[in-house]
Amino acid sequence: MSTLSSQEIVELTRKYNYGTWRFQKGWTPMHIADAEGCYLITGDGRRLLDFSSQLMCSNLGHKNQAVIDSIAKQAQDLAYAMPGYATEARAELSKLLVEVLPAGLNKFFFTTSGTEANEAAFKIARMYTGKTKIIARYRSYHGSTSGSIAATGDPRRWAMEPAGKGQGVIFGPEVHCYKCPIKHTYPSCGIACADYLEHMIRNESDVAAVLVEPIVGTNGVIVPPDGYMPKLRKICDAYGVLLIADEVMSGWGRSGEWFAMNHWGVVPDILVTAKGITSAYVPLGLCATSEKIAAYFEDHYFAHGHTYEAHPMTLAPAVATIHEMERLGLVERARSLGGYMEGKLRELMERHVCVGDVRGKGLFWAVDLVKNKTTKEPFNTYSDKVAGKVLVVDQIAGKVLGEGVTIQAWVSHFVVAPPLIVTKEEIDRGVAALDLHLSIADGLVE
Ligand code: PLP
Repeated sequence: MSTLSSQEIVELTRKYNYGTWRFQKGWTPMHIADAEGCYLITGDGRRLLDFSSQLMCSNLGHKNQAVIDSIAKQAQDLAYAMPGYATEARAELSKLLVEVLPAGLNKFFFTTSGTEANEAAFKIARMYTGKTKIIARYRSYHGSTSGSIAATGDPRRWAMEPAGKGQGVIFGPEVHCYKCPIKHTYPSCGIACADYLEHMIRNESDVAAVLVEPIVGTNGVIVPPDGYMPKLRKICDAYGVLLIADEVMSGWGRSGEWFAMNHWGVVPDILVTAKGITSAYVPLGLCATSEKIAAYFEDHYFAHGHTYEAHPMTLAPAVATIHEMERLGLVERARSLGGYMEGKLRELMERHVCVGDVRGKGLFWAVDLVKNKTTKEPFNTYSDKVAGKVLVVDQIAGKVLGEGVTIQAWVSHFVVAPPLIVTKEEIDRGVAALDLHLSIADGLVE
């Protein structure tokens, strides 16, 4: 037992740590002392319903005994062996991944984060194709280190420019039917945003890969229209360009399929994932590649690796997580609760003028706030955030917290993504807390 008081825990954390993606001033971290199922328990004993699975990663919920046991057992049996060795956890997980990943993604590189898994994917794509450029899209996030932040389309990249600029990354249009950047309307547009990516490939030389989040996560849970992914697959095939799917957030049942790409029956050449792979019990990332890429490296040097790659302590809980997801039927559960969640969020949109759009799949949804329903102008932009302004969504999230519900707010929307074990009653409770405080934004609508 710690001898520190709750107040000391907060003060020491605040004094000696950076609060990320924010000004340090004004950061008072909340003390989380315990957690159980869909709830976090604060240092002063409040139970908070986690309506975003922390960072859309605690998919199984907290205190899953099978995952806890797997960690304890692995620590007893073998805490570490260097990556060149074979371990039971590595073999077991590999066998399971072949079963749950889209067919043909059979060769794995394990990391300790989504960021590193993307870095691995970029290097592998460049080594395999002998080409450099990666086409990413504006509304996207792929990680925070130099390569992955350079491939991030959203303004989090700006802080690293010009140092991180380029790195062989160019940006194409996002697929965002609600706020189409070229003001087209689906389906009459014929999915012109995919055609434009083809135009880019034709007019650039040296393109190694197209990088997409199949369902865009932090940037607003953007689900592409059904024809987009199959069209992109065809374009990539026609030009010998690899398709990389970043499923760090969208994977592991979150959208009602094991992986979001399954919604469209499209298999990428490289799939990157993390977060739900261990339900955040331990840090693990995965870069899974196709057999043709694997075959290439049989007689070409694989120039990549980490000390903590394929760390046994990260792999054993992933095995337990997958078994638990299967035992509890969580992929099916996310799919079947998706309709319920959608109904509740659509009611919210009807009741509040500030809600411009709700969109998502499974248990992965955005509630998008707009100041003006016609122009779809948001209340805030990322520039307001880096200027230290108090954002409307953060004000609302603060009030929702007062109701005992935590929710992730990002610039001008909320990400609603509770643990996949959530009940209908808990969905009702989370939506009701939002319902109570969206009136803050209703009052600001023009
Ligand atoms: N890719 C996507 C789609 C993400 O959502 C994230 C994190 O939110 C990352 C990559 C980076 O993963 P990590 O934070 O584990 O490095």
